[in-house]
Amino acid sequence: MRTLTPGRLLFEEIVPPEFRAGTDDEPIGAELVKKILQSVAEQAPDQYKNISHRLLKLGAKASIEVPASFTLEDLKSPIDKKSLIAEVEAKEDEIRNNKSLTPQQRTEALIKLYAEQSAAMPEKIFQASSARGSNLAKMVASGARGNKGQLNSNIGADWLMLDADSRPIPVPIKNSYSDGLSPAEYYASAYGTRRGLLSTKFSVQEAGYLSKQLAAASHDLIVSSKDCETDRGYPTDPSDTDNIGAVLSRPAGGFPANTIITSRVLKQLRDNNVKKMSVRSPLTCTAKNGICSICAGIKEKNRFPEIGERVGLSASSSVGEPLSQGTLSEKHSGGVASSSGKAVSAFKQIDSLVQVPEVFPNGAAVSEVDGVVSRIEEAPQGGHFVYVGDKQHYVGRNIDVSVKRGDTVEAGDVLSSGVPNPYDIVKHKGIGQGRTYFVDAMRRAMKSNNIANDRRQLEVLGRSLVNHVRVTNPEGYGSYLPDDIIEYSSIEDHTPDGATRVPTSKAINKYLAKPILHYSVGTRITPSVARNLEENDEKEIDITDSSPGFEPEAQRVMDIPGHKTDWMAQLAGSNLKKRILSDVHSGTAISDPQGPSFIPGLAKGVGFGDLSHTQGVDPFKNTSPKPIK
Ligand SMILES: [Zn+2]
Repeated sequence: MRTLTPGRLLFEEIVPPEFRAGTDDEPIGAELVKKILQSVAEQAPDQYKNISHRLLKLGAKASIEVPASFTLEDLKSPIDKKSLIAEVEAKEDEIRNNKSLTPQQRTEALIKLYAEQSAAMPEKIFQASSARGSNLAKMVASGARGNKGQLNSNIGADWLMLDADSRPIPVPIKNSYSDGLSPAEYYASAYGTRRGLLSTKFSVQEAGYLSKQLAAASHDLIVSSKDCETDRGYPTDPSDTDNIGAVLSRPAGGFPANTIITSRVLKQLRDNNVKKMSVRSPLTCTAKNGICSICAGIKEKNRFPEIGERVGLSASSSVGEPLSQGTLSEKHSGGVASSSGKAVSAFKQIDSLVQVPEVFPNGAAVSEVDGVVSRIEEAPQGGHFVYVGDKQHYVGRNIDVSVKRGDTVEAGDVLSSGVPNPYDIVKHKGIGQGRTYFVDAMRRAMKSNNIANDRRQLEVLGRSLVNHVRVTNPEGYGSYLPDDIIEYSSIEDHTPDGATRVPTSKAINKYLAKPILHYSVGTRITPSVARNLEENDEKEIDITDSSPGFEPEAQRVMDIPGHKTDWMAQLAGSNLKKRILSDVHSGTAISDPQGPSFIPGLAKGVGFGDLSHTQGVDPFKNTSPKPIK
C-alpha cells in the first residue's frame, strides 16, 4: 500500500493521473514537478497553463501555511565525525611515515585520500540528515534551496578545495561551518571561494566570445522564402521529440509529405511502428539566399517564421546562452574539489566542435581510406596502430580501438572511441553527412552535460558552419580561382558537367551530381550511402565519374565570416586586412545593403529598421536603397 500524505492528496488533486503514472513513490519536489510539467507540455499543451498555475498557487499557499524552518539540531553533524576524522588521520600518519615515498608522492597520496573523502561526503551527509528528518535536508531534497555540496559545507566537511588554477590545496578541511573552521582551514576554503568567483568570470568570458563568433558566422542566415518545396530532409525517427514542429519531407506511417508534426502525430507515428522517417530541415532546404519558412519549422512562437527572420542569430544564441548559464552554475559549488567542473568541459567539447582544432582533445581516429582492417598492433609510444589495408592510423592512449581485424570500413568511419573531428568527417563524407554529424555531436555534447538544446536550432547552425568547399577546378562555377574557399550553398544548384543518371547500385565510387536526401553534391557513393539511398526508394541517382570542381573542407568558426560573398559582412570576422586586400586583388568585392547580412545596411545607414520581420517585409523584393528617415 502506498503512503499518502495531505500534501500528496493536494498535489494529486491538481495533476491528472495520466501525467503522474508510475510516480507514486517519488518524493514530490522540483525534479518530479519538472518531469510532470514536461509530460503535460508534450501530451496536452492546452492544459499546461492551468496545471502549472494551480501548482504555483499550491506552492505559494503551502509556503505560508506550512512554514519550513530549521532548528539548532539540524546544524549538528548527522554522522559520527570524530571517528571518521580519526580514521582518516590514521591513514594520514601511515602516508607521512612511509619512508619509501618521495615528498611529491606523499603529497599526491594525501591529496588522493582527501579527494576520496571530498567526493563521498555530500551524499553521506545528505542521506544521514534525511534519515534524521532534518529540515535542511528536506529543503535540498525538494530542490527549493541549496544542494548537497552546500549542506555538506555547513554540517559535514569539505576536505579538499581547489585553488584558482584548479590545483588541489593540500590542507584538509575537517570542520564544517557549523563546527567553525580553524585559521588554516579558513584560508584554504577562501582559496576555493576565490576559484569559484574567478572561474565564473573567465568562463562567462569564454562562452561569450564563442557566442559572438557563432553569431558572426551565422547572422546572415535568414528566412528568404515561404516554401522551397523540396522532398529532401533530415534522417530521424519518431522517438525524437525535437521533431515536434518540423514537417515530414516524405510520407511516413500513413501521413502524407508536408504533414506538420505535432505531439499527436509523433505518437501516432510511434504507434504505427515507424522506425525511420525524414523531416524538412534547415540542413537540406533548397531556398536561395537563406532557408524557407517550412524547412525552418514551427518555432517557439508556435508559428512558422516569417520572411526576413534571422534564424541564424537565434540559433547561435540558443547555443551560446545556455553555455554561459552552464558555466555560471559552477559558482554555486564554490571551488570544492569534488565538483567535477563539468560545465567547463562541456564548453571545451562544444568549442572544439566549432573551432576544428588540429589536435582534437580525446579525438577519435578516423579511417582515411576504404578497406578492411588488416592489423592492430600496440604502438611503441602507447596506444595502438590500426591498419586499414596498408594505411596506418594511430589511436592514442586512453582511447579504445572500436574495430577488429577483418572489419570493413569506409573513409570517414571511426576506428576508436572518442569524438571524431568534424573536419575529418566533412573531408571524407562530404558536406551533407558532415552536417548531420555536426548536429548529432553537438547534441550529444550538450545533452551529456545537461545543457538544454533543440535539434532544429543546431541544424540551422550546422547549415551556416558546415558550408564550405575548396575550389579545385573553377570551370563552370563563376570567377573563382583554384584554392578559393567558397560557400557550398552558393553552388549547390550547379550540376557538374558530364552528369548522368544511373541505377543507384551501379554508382559505387562515383560522385553525386545533384543533392538527394541529406547527401550533398560531390558526395562519394560508398556502399553504405548506396544502401541508404535504396532503402529510401532512390533507385536512380545523378552522378559524375570524377569529383566535381571542389572538395568539402570544414572551416573554423572564426574564419567563416571571412568566406562570405558580401565583403562588408566579412567585417564581422577576423584577419580584416588580409580579407579586404584579397577581395581587392580578386576584384570580387561586392556588397548589398539589402542582402541577408545586416552589416552593409548598418554601415551605409540604408534601410535601417525596414527589414524587420515583424512587418513581414521581403528583403529580396525591396532592392532599391532607401535614405535614412
Ligand atoms: Zn526549404
